[in-house]
Amino acid sequence: MDSSQLFATLGTHMNDETVVVVVEDDPNIADLVELYLRRDGFRPYQADTGERAIEVIAERRPKLILLDVGLPGDLDGLDVCRSVRAESDVPIIFLTARDDEIDRVLGLELGADDYVTKPFSPRELMARVKAILRRTDGSVGRDRPPVIDLPEGIIIDVGRREVTVHSEPVALATREFDLVRHLAEHRGLALSRRQLIDGVWGVDWVGDDRTVDVHVRQLRKKLGDGLRLETVWGVGYRLD
Ligand code: CA
Repeated sequence: MDSSQLFATLGTHMNDETVVVVVEDDPNIADLVELYLRRDGFRPYQADTGERAIEVIAERRPKLILLDVGLPGDLDGLDVCRSVRAESDVPIIFLTARDDEIDRVLGLELGADDYVTKPFSPRELMARVKAILRRTDGSVGRDRPPVIDLPEGIIIDVGRREVTVHSEPVALATREFDLVRHLAEHRGLALSRRQLIDGVWGVDWVGDDRTVDVHVRQLRKKLGDGLRLETVWGVGYRLD
């Protein structure tokens, strides 16, 4: 398999893993919804309070949010919706328990993209999820540049050419971004300096292989200890 095939494989895989955040304090409902999401190839993350929801949403940048209205703690589902809407248009489907909650959701000018009433059929919910994703940004079944999720809260958004560490954007030079992206697209593989030069700078690039070392040093400095960028002696580098 050459590197373009590998990239195609990784790209497809990552597009299939559309992140969905499930905000729900009833663990039975949350687990059931998570099960159905996983079965359909989504990557779900749970949050059981409004406060936690805001953290998880900021960190995971979901393509869709399933949001229970009645939540324990200071922030209910509507508060979470307002807070999210201040920053993004990510689709939100409310999970409502009672008629008065439905009225509040419908009265919300910020707007839910949809809502389902408990008890709901998970099958029906999944149909709504897919319909909304098809309608909004095409995450389902269409090619989008991947968002690569690394450990320790490091996220590479290829489309936006942005790297964030725990949701904080990190300013990278063009080649630094290309290098960390290339390593991330070949995660777990030891790549030689020459392979990295070819992949990042291009096969025609004339220069010293040590350029890679300089850029690796910058990446380690800027992205911190969470970046699992290992030196493979006698070979080059590997991102775990
Ligand atoms: Ca609830």
